[in-house]
Parts: sequence; C-alpha cells; structure tokens
Amino acid sequence: MQADVDLETSLLGPVLADRSCGDCTVCCTVLKVDAPDFKKPPETSCGHLGSRGCTIHAVRPRICRTWFCAWRRVAAMPSEARPDRSGLLVSLNFVREPQNCFEGVSINVRCLTGSKAIENGMAARVLDSLCDQLVPVWFSDGSKKMLMHPDNEVAQHVTSGSPAPPHLQDEVRAWRENYGLFAPRDQPQQS
Ligand code: SF4
Ligand code: SF4
Repeated sequence: MQADVDLETSLLGPVLADRSCGDCTVCCTVLKVDAPDFKKPPETSCGHLGSRGCTIHAVRPRICRTWFCAWRRVAAMPSEARPDRSGLLVSLNFVREPQNCFEGVSINVRCLTGSKAIENGMAARVLDSLCDQLVPVWFSDGSKKMLMHPDNEVAQHVTSGSPAPPHLQDEVRAWRENYGLFAPRDQPQQS
C-alpha cells in the first residue's frame, strides 16, 4: 500500500459507490504497508486484524482509510472478483528503481496462495478487463511476475527502439510517447 491516491484515482478511477469491502480483509494481510505512521510486512496479518475485521476501524491509520484495491475502483472488473472471493488482488504498483519502463507504475494482478483463479477462468476475465489502456499490467504469484500488457512483441519494440512492423506501429508509438525510449538492456524479464 502506498499513499499516492491521486495517481491511483487518475489511472484506476474513483472509488465506486456500489462496491464495498464487506468481509474481505485480503489487503490487511497480503500487502506491505510503508506509510509514515503505520508499517507492516507483506504476507503477514496486521496486528489489528481480528476475526471480524479491523479492530480499530474507527481510528485506523490514514493509509487504511484512503487506499482501495483496483476492484473497488475499476467498474470493468467483474463484480465477482472481490479479492477474498476470486483469489486475485489487483492494485497499482510503484517500483522506486524500475528495471524497465513498464515497471515504475503498473497494475499488478496478484494470484493469492491457494487461488483457483487461473483454473476457473477468473484470472483471464480480470486481465481482459484491465489490458485495454496505456498502463502496464503484470501478473504475479507474489514471487515471480510476468508482463501481460503490452504483449511481448510490442514490449520488445518499445524497450529496444527497433522499428515496429506496420500493424504494431501505432501501438508502439503510443507506448513510447507515454513511457519514453529505453535501451535494450531495459527489456522486461520474467523473474
Ligand atoms: S483487498 Fe480490496 S476489497 Fe478487500 S479489503 Fe482491501 S480494499 Fe477492500
Ligand atoms: S489497521 Fe485495520 S484496516 Fe489497517 S491494515 Fe490493520 S486491520 Fe487492516
């Protein structure tokens, strides 16, 4: 979780009035929190998390009041994709020292431990709903991640600066205008 609410609003949209967290507390366990007044490690339940949710809800830290996962913001995501039901936590990711131009600010679709989202098709539906704008989308299982959008061929042309074939020229140009030219060593890797 990070506090860049304005960027989240501009890239993901405002928080939707018709979606609520309900019984979901996925972000309270899965995410690392590194706010000035509140920190917690990733993949560890917050010390304030009880069996019925946040035990300090009325006075919870600012980051918890202002941060929302993508499911709370992106209307195109399936309504059934609430993280505790889908096994997918989607959020905007910020990398301070990105290895390539698609890593600095991106959407991360995180497949949670034990999730059946790949097998039951929910992962594909969620990715379809997110991969339609000039924001990079990664899919991860918490340790490894894979760039899903743009696709490999477009990403290679954007990062290498090599001439794109005619059918990809508009798309490559659009990504370059947004993300700039990067040297070949910046090509995205799976890790
Ligand atoms: S993961 Fe999303 S839906 Fe679940 S509690 Fe956090 S913000 Fe709410
Ligand atoms: S303080 Fe409450 S809302 Fe914030 S992470 Fe902990 S349990 Fe969740």
